[in-house]
Amino acid sequence: IDSPGHAVPDDAPATVGCLIAGEWVSDGPRADRVGPWTRAVVSTARQAGDHDVETALGYARRGARAVARMSPAARAGVLERAAGEALARRDELARLLALELGKPVKDGRGEIDRVADTFAVSAAEARRIGGEVLPVAGWARGVGNTALTHRAPVGVALAITPFNAPANLLAHKLAASFAAGNTTIVKPPPQAPASSAAVVRLLLDAGMPPEAVQVLHGGGAVGAALSAAPEVGVISFTGSPGTGAAVARSAGAKRLVMELGGNAATIVCEDADIAAAARICAATGYSNSGQSCISVQRVYVHRSRYEEFLDAFTLAVEKLTVGDPLDTATDVGSMVDDDAAERVVSWTREAADAGATITTGGRRDGATVIPTVVASPPPDARIVRDEVFGAAVAVRPFDDFDDVLTTCNDSRYGLQAGLFTHDVRRILTAWRELEVGGLIVNGSSNYRLDHIPFGGVKDSGFGREAPRWMIDDYTVVKTLMLRGI
Ligand code: NAD
Repeated sequence: IDSPGHAVPDDAPATVGCLIAGEWVSDGPRADRVGPWTRAVVSTARQAGDHDVETALGYARRGARAVARMSPAARAGVLERAAGEALARRDELARLLALELGKPVKDGRGEIDRVADTFAVSAAEARRIGGEVLPVAGWARGVGNTALTHRAPVGVALAITPFNAPANLLAHKLAASFAAGNTTIVKPPPQAPASSAAVVRLLLDAGMPPEAVQVLHGGGAVGAALSAAPEVGVISFTGSPGTGAAVARSAGAKRLVMELGGNAATIVCEDADIAAAARICAATGYSNSGQSCISVQRVYVHRSRYEEFLDAFTLAVEKLTVGDPLDTATDVGSMVDDDAAERVVSWTREAADAGATITTGGRRDGATVIPTVVASPPPDARIVRDEVFGAAVAVRPFDDFDDVLTTCNDSRYGLQAGLFTHDVRRILTAWRELEVGGLIVNGSSNYRLDHIPFGGVKDSGFGREAPRWMIDDYTVVKTLMLRGI
């Protein structure tokens, strides 16, 4: 189904198997992924059924011991080699991301560079996992004994990933889980099976043993069956709050890490460098068409600089290059599908009907949302209150710094926030009082380094994703008490 004007590249659709018990299995039911830009089938993935889920769980349970017995040095070596493989195959992987998701290759290359960082940091953390000698002789009943702890792998980990950054989010979960000595079952997003499998291949080609990873493609039913399985000891989930809640219900009393949605705010104070703030918000509010959990969604600008910011921001947004995700000049490609694009446009229209001004954009071409600026929407508009997860940014004026902190916190979400100011008192107040997992100063909400703890509060989830913190979630503290030694 060619859409006029959008050339379909020559690539044959990628056929992606499920990786079960050490074998890539392609025979059986399959699902096609139609690229949102080309509107052609770009990948075909084998879908896992109940029997595959059972086989994978049994194999994981049996293989867990072999992975746990690998030395941290051997695990770190695999992760380091995989980092090199990621850089060597950056363009190939970025192309897959562009075809499956409409993500501009510029963003895709950036994502694969981060995959390499994530692997390298996980390798370093694998080497640092240790334990403690605990004091016992201060208690009469402990005299003469020795107490030790070490961090033991949980055993079987389940990694469920979303479509928007399928390579790096999978890398985070799988690399930290392996660094900790677990075996992992991966349930990739149905929109990016080939991109996800390609990341797993990087690790296998770098020497990850077959016992350490399996991949089961499919939709929510596969994720739900795996979440409920007693063999699984820890689940790391990234996705929407509704799905996260469903996973938690299936999981029961299992260990969980939840990375959920957001409607991130960025505050621009009266002392800010307005030109820089406008440029940065334009670059980070529309990258990956705004499909990032920390994408700039709400910008609050001090009223004395509001018009100046709005003009500079609108101009910067209009300069973004919109179009073919495979073109290296493109800043904004397509969204994941037409429905997502239509939702963004309808929320924009709704805000305009309620009194907002659309200074640019406000429409779509297929799955591509033309970068949209919504000025002064009412505070209860969906584009402000809910997660837009698209190429539209709401801008509102504020008068008082304390009040704007309250406004930012008046959200079910709390992932990350941005703050443009040079006032140390304000920076520290915002750091203490904003209900978020992280604050970026003189930058927008949309900035992340992969070794820095990342995660949310409230409906944005719990747990911190970065190898050092994830390893805590992927291991259990195990004590050894030596009586009389
Ligand atoms: P989604 O919730 O629709 O799907 C996420 C994954 O869950 C997919 O693999 C899906 O197949 C699977 N799934 C669906 N139903 C399930 C069930 N009942 N049990 C188990 N698994 C199930 O999310 P999405 O649309 O792919 O991703 C977008 C969302 O992810 C946004 O809300 C975004 O904010 C969030 N996100 C959060 C972070 C973060 O770090 N906090 C990062 C990226 C994306």
